[in-house]
Amino acid sequence: MSNYLVTEINNATTIAIRLRTEIIDGGGDGHLQTLTVRDRATDTVQTLPASAVFLLIRAEPGTEWLAGAVERDEHGYLLTGRDLTSDAESAGAWPLARPPLLLETSLPGVFAAGDVRAGSTKRVASAVGEGAIAVRLIHEHLNETRR
Ligand SMILES: Cc1cc2nc3c(=O)[nH]c(=O)nc-3n(C[C@H](O)[C@H](O)[C@H](O)COP(=O)(O)OP(=O)(O)OC[C@H]3O[C@@H](n4cnc5c(N)ncnc54)[C@H](O)[C@@H]3O)c2cc1C
Repeated sequence: MSNYLVTEINNATTIAIRLRTEIIDGGGDGHLQTLTVRDRATDTVQTLPASAVFLLIRAEPGTEWLAGAVERDEHGYLLTGRDLTSDAESAGAWPLARPPLLLETSLPGVFAAGDVRAGSTKRVASAVGEGAIAVRLIHEHLNETRR
């Protein structure tokens, strides 16, 4: 999470942060009115008034299926462009004499855009922008292949 958001949440008197706590039940008459939570550190269960739940589950790339085919960083994000040739660990992963294109992965002609790409901004606007750039790069790759 962005550091400024962490600071704002920590300073907000209207927000209580419950670490190591899981929601184990919800209740209400026609709509949500309560949540039952369990503190995993103390194993204490508490039912709290609640009118809404917003979930943020996982921020991990689901790229296991690409292991061994496309170079990934230690968190599973796909390496692209300059990261493939500047990073000592991934040096040698790029097979061609020409450098990889901006969003090109270690598999020539395969491009990555958005959150799944290592070093991406993790924002809608940049994911959409990278998608548009990837289309342009695919055309460039196809033109090169035809030549
Ligand atoms: C809670 C939350 C709040 C956010 N708030 C903001 C915000 O306020 N402003 C902002 O700009 N950004 C925000 N973001 C970030 C933003 O949602 C992402 O940056 C953006 O959605 C990235 O787009 P994407 O297309 O790269 O990935 P995604 O939107 O994650 O799309 C990837 C898609 O690929 C699908 N997929 C995955 N694996 C496969 C597979 N093997 N085969 C086929 N399909 C597959 C997934 O189901 C998904 O639909 C937020 C993110 C979260 C989680």
